[in-house]
Amino acid sequence: MIHEFEAVVIGAGGAGLYAALEASKKAKTAVLSKVYAIRSHTGAAQGGICAALGNVEEDKPEWHAFDTVKGGDYLVDQNAALILAEEAVQAVYDLENRGLPFNRTPEGRIDQRRFGGHTRNFGEAPVRRACYAADRTGHMILQTLYQQCIKNQITFFDEFQVVDVVMDGRKCGGVVAVELATGDIHIFKAKAVFFATGGFGRMFRITSNAYANTGDGPAVLARRGVPLEDMEFFQFHPTGIKGMGILISEAVRGEGGILRNRYGERFMERYVPTLLDLGPRDIVSRSMITEIREGRGIRGDGKINDYLHLDATEIGREVILAKLPDITDFCKTYLGIDPAEGPIPVQPTAHYAMGGLPTDVNGRVVADGLGGFYDGLYAAGECACVSVHGANRLGTNSLLDLVVFGRRAGIHIADYVKNADPPTFGKHVAEPAKKRIAELTDGKKGPHGEKIREKMQFEMMENVGVYRNETDMAKAVDVLRELREEYGKVRVQDRSKAFNTDLLEILELGNLLDLALITAESARNRKESRGAHSREDYPDRDDENWLKHTLARLDEDAVRIDYKPVDLSRWEPKPRTY
Ligand SMILES: Cc1cc2nc3c(=O)[nH]c(=O)nc-3n(C[C@H](O)[C@H](O)[C@H](O)COP(=O)(O)OP(=O)(O)OC[C@H]3O[C@@H](n4cnc5c(N)ncnc54)[C@H](O)[C@@H]3O)c2cc1C
Repeated sequence: MIHEFEAVVIGAGGAGLYAALEASKKAKTAVLSKVYAIRSHTGAAQGGICAALGNVEEDKPEWHAFDTVKGGDYLVDQNAALILAEEAVQAVYDLENRGLPFNRTPEGRIDQRRFGGHTRNFGEAPVRRACYAADRTGHMILQTLYQQCIKNQITFFDEFQVVDVVMDGRKCGGVVAVELATGDIHIFKAKAVFFATGGFGRMFRITSNAYANTGDGPAVLARRGVPLEDMEFFQFHPTGIKGMGILISEAVRGEGGILRNRYGERFMERYVPTLLDLGPRDIVSRSMITEIREGRGIRGDGKINDYLHLDATEIGREVILAKLPDITDFCKTYLGIDPAEGPIPVQPTAHYAMGGLPTDVNGRVVADGLGGFYDGLYAAGECACVSVHGANRLGTNSLLDLVVFGRRAGIHIADYVKNADPPTFGKHVAEPAKKRIAELTDGKKGPHGEKIREKMQFEMMENVGVYRNETDMAKAVDVLRELREEYGKVRVQDRSKAFNTDLLEILELGNLLDLALITAESARNRKESRGAHSREDYPDRDDENWLKHTLARLDEDAVRIDYKPVDLSRWEPKPRTY
């Protein structure tokens, strides 16, 4: 079946929905999502969305932009960070006007709380910049935007999984998708295609990410020759529930929660004396691993499953119930712990992809390091890299990124499609996807994907995790190559057409394997430590050689690396001390 639209949006998280709202003002727009729109991972975001509103204390967009640049260890494109911080204020008020129920101050303004790395006056002390709706901020954003999309009569294709993209040189003309309910293949023709498929934390063993976060957009495009930017930078959030990775929002520390080791010490005093537990995530995660390695974890044997305590008891039951109700439920359900009474066992959890599809500030996908673009191909949100997060994202900057750059991309698309020609390809574009699915379901015997998935997740967690070195990463790359080869022989047990989730999960596994290889090779290539990329064999940041973005291209089994300059138009790079 062939569908024709002017703009097709892949992904119904915050980025996809915001772009759809803008694009649909002028263009016939469809949204495809492999899960129901309101089940997108944006709905799991807890802590907040930041903007220098200055509602509870003095704040300025310039301070916000600076914190973003410094938090990202100067790999941030500074022009993009300034746009992010300046447009944040209007973006939050837009959400409010569209009906988002933010928490309020006693005077009725949007309330704000602290989050890691957000400071007043260029690093002096923590500032209250995160706007929030209890610990359900993402849920509220998603509901608000979805309601607006329904009101504007945008066409939704829920439970349609994109498996291929149609490229003609540097022009994108549509996508190929499988309809989950029937197994039918659909072709979507469009003048502009916008990718907002979210993150890919599922390549790691311990992750805060939903099952659907498998990086389908970047993987599908990488296989069609599109480069991926800064894939070596993957954020580990300090506080995942021990052994499970389920997120305990940084908002707990924002409200006064304290990290403690087995001796009850507030160990962050040793590492980030100014911001303590509210240091940037990369530094806090490394501090935790150091505590564990030096025998001060709770079990104290320095092994991988060791953990630390997040002590929220001093916040007080009343504040916990009012501002952190979901977190309280998680702790009770998964741990049998009441956070008002006992400490929460936590360990760093793979959380956020700083890297992804390279774009400019209007969401256009970049084709090379020389300023070339793809026509009709756009991206924003976690699958993209604009780059406002550089080597390490600050908490609450992602929800903001969705709204600011989703909106900008939507506006650009609406203009672009006015003058663009419709694509002219025929049905044959679905052949590669059909062939691959036929192969997977041909009834022949083959290995099951689950073992491959487990091995990949273990390898990435242990050898391309918080701390890295050449020996470990080289081993990971070897294992990933073997796993990709093994993957070629995998067969799907379930051969039915309707709701064949087995098949779709195997296709997702292929995406994760490709992205894991690109991540590991990009990490091996970058011989310095910066932000979330921390190498034991190259412990220092090296601006002379490495102050540049990686552009990695997948070429069968090889990953070819190129570079792109960083925009440094506002601030001189400085050592990152807090
Ligand atoms: C537990 C958790 C808590 C977080 N808390 C915060 C927070 O408090 N503040 C903050 O700023 N950030 C937070 N983040 C990060 C932030 O929520 C995410 O980065 C952001 O929501 C990603 O939004 P997105 O629109 O890019 O994609 P998502 O919301 O992940 O949506 C992806 C969409 O793409 C669709 N899709 C994917 N693949 C396909 C395919 N093949 N075919 C069709 N559709 C597809 C999915 O169906 C989905 O609709 C949190 C993240 C997690 C995991």
